[in-house]
Amino acid sequence: MLPEVPEPPLRLSLDRDALTSNWQALDRLSGKARAGAAVKADAYGLGARLVVPLLHQAGCRDFFVAHWTEAAELLDLVPAPSIAVLHGLQSAADAGYAIASGVKPVINSAAQARRWLDAGGGACDLMVDTGINRLGVPMSEIGDEVFARLRVDVLHSHLIAAEEDSPNNARQCRKWREARAAIAHTRASLANSAGIALGSDYHGDLTRPGIALYGGVPRADMAHLIRQVVSPQAMIMQVRDVEAGEGIGYNATFTAPARMRVGTISLGYADGYLRCWSGKGTFRAGGYELPVLGRVSMDMTVVDLSNAPGLGEGDWVTADYALAEAATASGLSQYELLTLLGGRFSR
Ligand SMILES: *Cc1c(COP(=O)(O)O)cnc(C)c1O
Repeated sequence: MLPEVPEPPLRLSLDRDALTSNWQALDRLSGKARAGAAVKADAYGLGARLVVPLLHQAGCRDFFVAHWTEAAELLDLVPAPSIAVLHGLQSAADAGYAIASGVKPVINSAAQARRWLDAGGGACDLMVDTGINRLGVPMSEIGDEVFARLRVDVLHSHLIAAEEDSPNNARQCRKWREARAAIAHTRASLANSAGIALGSDYHGDLTRPGIALYGGVPRADMAHLIRQVVSPQAMIMQVRDVEAGEGIGYNATFTAPARMRVGTISLGYADGYLRCWSGKGTFRAGGYELPVLGRVSMDMTVVDLSNAPGLGEGDWVTADYALAEAATASGLSQYELLTLLGGRFSR
């Protein structure tokens, strides 16, 4: 029999206390409303099976995924009715799975509502589109009698620009209130992470933070509440001295100005550490700052160890990955920075 598979030389360090603390801070900021959690896309790349039990333990009782396959992954961790599928019912198979599993669909149209009723569906959520023009029941259709026949647990809408002080916020809030008056429901929900900071008008009964749980700072006024959760880490696989004038990495985009000591770490664009970090990213270990030299390649990146004589092969380094700062530096959004992180990290 084979021995256990060795640990990979890259890992995603998750600060579990910070995750819990972020949920608690957002729950408090939600006032009378309860905070749920958007855990779609594998909890934004962190690993939904790690994140969901921690948030459940903290008190979270409403989890949002996009797909039925994502809901299936969580069924042994939390009660099925605490999970809602945002994409709703694309087919009769979706409706059958919802009924058999007890997971709630978020109904997004009159056609989805009829599909749910035809399947004999019970409690569901309903998404009203108050201006994103993406997914959800258009405001012009909220009077359709089919919605009156649903047993709506949460009546949702989704903000398009809550991270900005935009007139869209108040406009959408007004339409959401209109929808609440038109369609019977048990609870109402509007705010994503940034929306929670817009005040009690936006809270309803339930909020749906995602990015801020995982360390994203969608509005500067939330920075003091949110702690960093995710740090990509990689092992130094090889150390060498490079002579002045030698190039480093593909296409030699960096040329050593003097003799320097460099280290190759096991992290590349296939892991979501994209080429935009070439010559720009930084890592840290033992109090040293380690700039990226030359191009990031698929599985490897080279860092400058000239000022870090204490580091060598087998040591671990941590990427500078505070999301707000990393987004500014890389040109990627905070959401992309998380959801890019690949499957080769141990988590
Ligand atoms: C993803 C999502 C959220 C979470 O948004 P964040 O900006 O990450 O807080 C909330 N509601 C819906 C409908 C979503 O799709």
